[in-house]
Formats: sequence, C-alpha cells, structure tokens
Amino acid sequence: ATLPYDDQNIFAKILRGEIPANKVYEDDHALAFHDINPQAPQHILVIPKGPYVSWDDFAARAGDAEIAGFVRAVGHVARAAGMVATGYRLLANIGQDAHQEVPHLHVHIFAGRPLGPMLA
Ligand code: 5GP
Repeated sequence: ATLPYDDQNIFAKILRGEIPANKVYEDDHALAFHDINPQAPQHILVIPKGPYVSWDDFAARAGDAEIAGFVRAVGHVARAAGMVATGYRLLANIGQDAHQEVPHLHVHIFAGRPLGPMLA
C-alpha cells in the first residue's frame, strides 16, 4: 500500500522554495532540476507539483490534466536539452524494492553518454 504523502520530503521543500535546486524548467504542472549526484553527464529529475508519493500514486489519483501536463513536461525537458538526437533514458523508482529514496514522484532523465543495457 502507498504511504500517505509526507510534505516534509526534500522535493516538497524544493517545490516550496525552502531549499535550493538547480532548476532547468518549470510550468504549472511540473518542475525539473539537476540531480545533486549525477549518474550521467546529464541527469535531470522531473517532478509533478502535486502531492504524489510515486508513479503508482500519481497514476491512481492525479487528474487527466496533471498527467498530461507532467508527461509533456518530461518530453519538453529532454527535447530542450537536445537529448532526442542522441537518445536518453527515463527511469522512475517505485517503492522499496526499486530503492525509491525520496517519497515524491520523480522521473530521472539520463543522457550524454552511451547508457548501456537496462539495469536488472
Ligand atoms: P530515487 O532513488 O528516489 O529514485 O532517487 C532520488 C534522487 O534524488 C537521487 O538520484 C539523488 O541524488 C537525488 N537527490 C536527493 N536529494 C536531493 C536534493 O536535495 N537535491 C537534488 N537536486 N537531488 C537530490
């Protein structure tokens, strides 16, 4: 079962401006910023502005406009960063076995080098 949303999580604090982030894009539905510990030359996180614990929670509870806005924002960030020509990887960790560390939905965007085969 999904935990209730904890508004003290680090990405909620970034959304409220309580802690800084190196932002790359923002609109009504989404915020994108550089990961603090990048795993590729380009490693961006995209988060919805609403209080969703994970992709699972978002898919279950978010409105259609929020979902569409978020999906479009992820695409926009990758396109605007010039990732489409060379390719990029999207990743969302959901829950314990996936080692999700921050309980606010985030999609990782990795690019800037050959990323190799998908992790197990
Ligand atoms: P997860 O394992 O939950 O999918 O990924 C969490 C990601 O958030 C990690 O890649 C980690 O480096 C990143 N992260 C954690 N805390 C912060 C922070 O305060 N600022 C930024 N920009 N990234 C963070």
